[in-house]
Amino acid sequence: MIKRLFFLYLCFHCTAANAQHVVYGKKMLDTLTSSHFWGRGYTQNGMEKAGLFIAETFSSYGLLALDGKSFFQKFSYPVNTFPGKMELTLNGKKLKPGADFIILPESNGLTSSGVLQQKDSITYLNENDRLVIKEENKLTWSVGTKVEDYTMILLNRNSFKEQPHSYTVKIENKFVDQFSASNICGYVRGTLQPDSFLFITAHFDHLGGMGKETFFPGANDNASGVALMLELARYYALHPQPYSIAFIAFAGEEAGLVGSKYFTENPLVPLSSIRFLLNTDLAGTGTEGITVVNATEFPKEFAWMNEVNEKEKLLVKINPRGKAANSDHYFFMEKEVPSFFFYTLGGITAYHDINDRAETLPLSEFDDLFRLIVLFNNKLMGK
Ligand SMILES: [Zn+2]
Repeated sequence: MIKRLFFLYLCFHCTAANAQHVVYGKKMLDTLTSSHFWGRGYTQNGMEKAGLFIAETFSSYGLLALDGKSFFQKFSYPVNTFPGKMELTLNGKKLKPGADFIILPESNGLTSSGVLQQKDSITYLNENDRLVIKEENKLTWSVGTKVEDYTMILLNRNSFKEQPHSYTVKIENKFVDQFSASNICGYVRGTLQPDSFLFITAHFDHLGGMGKETFFPGANDNASGVALMLELARYYALHPQPYSIAFIAFAGEEAGLVGSKYFTENPLVPLSSIRFLLNTDLAGTGTEGITVVNATEFPKEFAWMNEVNEKEKLLVKINPRGKAANSDHYFFMEKEVPSFFFYTLGGITAYHDINDRAETLPLSEFDDLFRLIVLFNNKLMGK
């Protein structure tokens, strides 16, 4: 009896849970932020592994290659990487990379010891070593596409409260002139108008790793958006639409929208055949709603989105915003492809730091975002 009750409980639980897209989202979030993918960046083949994983996922859902041949659209760009040593001792104390300090992304490597001179209230120097140490209240990392002839370390003044004096650094950088990356491009063929496309896009790259022990998981930015895009790919593969629905996981976003720019310069379908593009980046919260970039450029479509949202009581608020060059929709918009970029608001604010982790990301509106997109796309197709 107890056993049977337990069994029934489990079954009920499974069915209810599987009905929720967020269960899929959480699982995908955990996968994409695991150390295996090393922050989906520039060391330990993180980005390459993540791209392969997404292509395999597309393939398992039955998506077709957008160019009819391959899911991979290859390109390359320069990047400064930190695959090796990342050690800093200040005033005799060994500091933790990521938590206590980060390296300026464009920094040169350095192996040396010495004493610092204070330059101003937050900056310390050793001119011989061309070393700069600067105090910051929040450590925000990014990707460097060039290398400087000096080494700059950004120090977390909330975790290291002494005045920096003596140092030992062992930091190795490797500048890669032509880092090889791929956009992952698949689609579900339309049943009535296959030459009309709706695009759903999300960048899968993040910042990668800083040294051998530290990586940036990028849960909100943008494992969350990739998870949402993949769940939509799974749905649309099972439910083909009148228009073709394309799914692009862009690489190189964090290095300056490199992948999406490349796509717009080398489009795999005519840009004029894209009826609308929805880009998702930072999809992991939403308790305070979303902001839609380009809303003011496409008032009719923005009204449709609000109509759907109000009817289905999905998000608490959809804020309109004008044009902005803040994610992969940008170069499409520059080439007159109608597009929205939406990002979630509220909840945790970890951004480009080691705290942007899956464990603390709620995916609070994942189901609502999923429904919003499906219903909005229906409007776009006149359904
Ligand atoms: Zn992002």
